[in-house]
Amino acid sequence: SPQRFDAIVVGAGAAGLFCAGVAGQLGLKVLLVDHAAKVAEKIRISGGGRCNFTNRELDPRAPHKHFLGGNPHFCRSALSRYTAEDFIGLVRRHGIAFHEKHKGQLFGDRSSDDFIQMLLAECGAGGVERWQPCAVRAVRTAGDGYEIDTDRGVASAPRVVIATGGLSIPQIGASDFGHRIAAQFGLKLVPPRPALVPLTFEGASWAPYAGLAGLALPVRIATGSKKAAMAFDEDLLFTHRGLSGPAVLQISSYWAPGTPIRIDLAPATDVAAALADAKLRSRKLVANELATLVPERLADAWMQGRPTLQRPVVEAADKALAALAHDIANWELVPAGTEGYRKAEVTAGGVDTRELSSQTMESRQPGLYFIGEVVDVTGWLGGYNFQWAWASAWACAHGMAAE
Ligand code: FAD
Repeated sequence: SPQRFDAIVVGAGAAGLFCAGVAGQLGLKVLLVDHAAKVAEKIRISGGGRCNFTNRELDPRAPHKHFLGGNPHFCRSALSRYTAEDFIGLVRRHGIAFHEKHKGQLFGDRSSDDFIQMLLAECGAGGVERWQPCAVRAVRTAGDGYEIDTDRGVASAPRVVIATGGLSIPQIGASDFGHRIAAQFGLKLVPPRPALVPLTFEGASWAPYAGLAGLALPVRIATGSKKAAMAFDEDLLFTHRGLSGPAVLQISSYWAPGTPIRIDLAPATDVAAALADAKLRSRKLVANELATLVPERLADAWMQGRPTLQRPVVEAADKALAALAHDIANWELVPAGTEGYRKAEVTAGGVDTRELSSQTMESRQPGLYFIGEVVDVTGWLGGYNFQWAWASAWACAHGMAAE
């Protein structure tokens, strides 16, 4: 006969570990199951091994500003009830030292393993039972609740929480399990797609830039119609296959295939004024003057295929210099695609939020909950995705315990 629990959480990643620990401490008898040999591999590799665990700029009154999804307001309730400050408090209670890096991003001083150990200790304090590695073969309704069929036998509970994450980084255990369970119970899905992902470029117009791999510079990047544009001020990184760096990762979440992105390559400089001034006093080539305004390798690449600018700046037409300044501030290019789930930090799309309660994360299918990245809520780069994992997990645990 099946082993009985109050709640079964599938997926021992960020959201599943936190949910199981909180629910256990609220008095529920919890089983946590994961098919991977190790817990929370994504926490381990996150933030370059230091885990960017939350973001101080997350505004509890307007948290949706840093998130996207079919209903950007869905995440408000959970994020305003369990805030970045709440999670920081937990980190402090566990004595984990951390620091702020850039734009409110908080990282551990030592290693992301500190956060994994913290979450395991919280599970321990909640008496959570863990089965791992343990594949889940099936989830089915049984009596008033559910039965799950696993490698280690059958378990039953009135509530099942799906915390199996998105499709990114299949190398470390990502699967479409959550999407399949949603489909099994007739819940709608927003089609998943890679997000926070490098963009690729191909063809003749890209050829001059293909040799710039490794070059980084601060830019302003935008996409979308001029009216509804999203823009970020961040670093751009040239790669062998295209563009990456925080600027491109951020904009990739908003990019629609087939549409252009726009990049200001010198956002802090008045390039038009600088070139007009150079024309009055300099005997150098346009390329050399441009190289004082943007990195030299970029200036050289830019001049390829622009013969009218391959001359001393004094000899360049005013119009040509003005056009150059305009182009540097409005570099428009259409990506061929993205690097896909192998390189994406997150998966956008997922379980449609219209199927879920924003208070408890319970779906229209009673007793079945979805938390974390499997839900159609996607955060910006910078700790926002973990904060969504913590907050949705907390809302779910409290929702289950309040029944
Ligand atoms: P996950 O943490 O992915 O956990 C899902 C769990 O479910 C895994 O343990 C997996 O083994 C298990 N699972 C999957 N399928 C099954 C199945 N069929 N059966 C049983 N178990 C299953 N976000 C930030 O906020 N800050 C960062 O610094 C950051 N850095 C990142 C760096 C990288 C390289 C990547 C890829 C992501 C990063 N993210 C970061 C995003 C963040 O890791 C995720 O958004 C977050 O882990 C999602 O939490 P989750 O619990 O929903 O899913």
